[in-house]
Amino acid sequence: MTQGPEDQPTDPGTSDQLAERKMRFLFALRSRGVTDTRVLTAMEKIDRGLFVRNVFADRAYEDMPLPIACGQTISQPSVVGLMTQALQVNPRDTVLEVGTGSGYQAAILSQLARRVYTVDRYRRLVREAGELFRQLDLVNITAITADGSHGLPDQAPFDRIIVTAAAEDPPGPLLEQLKPGGIMVVPVGQSDAVQALIKVTRTQSGFDYEELRPVRFVPLVEGLGSE
Ligand code: SAH
Repeated sequence: MTQGPEDQPTDPGTSDQLAERKMRFLFALRSRGVTDTRVLTAMEKIDRGLFVRNVFADRAYEDMPLPIACGQTISQPSVVGLMTQALQVNPRDTVLEVGTGSGYQAAILSQLARRVYTVDRYRRLVREAGELFRQLDLVNITAITADGSHGLPDQAPFDRIIVTAAAEDPPGPLLEQLKPGGIMVVPVGQSDAVQALIKVTRTQSGFDYEELRPVRFVPLVEGLGSE
């Protein structure tokens, strides 16, 4: 996946195959509505294959969610693209992600924002994602083990917040930690059903809510995980 030519002298076809898979990957993103050039560039640069570390690794360039450790999932690439696009990240923004999972979404955000905080309730996921961020030199990401439904009061407020697990309602602490003019994207609904992806914009006087599309995410669970 990240091997240079010196690591794979026996298979000269590999880099061509990789280039083709990447082209198909980007084409699938575009055809599903990911049109923002900055988002597409970030998704071209960050190799999803590195974030899927199990038997499913060879399906990393297909537009489907895949299992990761701790019984969680890495989201479908087109959903990552559409959520990132809806977040309208500016280069000077500080972003909070709730639900580090594999770290893929945070890595994409790191290309668009000044600073990314990402939290997960599983220590193991935070540790493994942190290792990848170091390996990829993504120095503007801080990964923290925490119950993200409380946000990160010490680092708040945030310009943008993205929640990649489904909540029954947008969590109050996260709304409070959004700057005026800030945007939060969050899947809302029952955990075992199809949820609605909601875009919340904080105005001077309150919050505007816009329903974007149906999605399916693992639930936002309170407290820390066992691993
Ligand atoms: N964004 C991830 C996919 C997230 S899957 C990626 O790019 O791979 C959802 C993640 O949310 C899981 O890892 C789960 O452990 C985490 N999660 C669920 N409830 C949480 C909570 N209360 N606080 C922090 N993380 C939570």
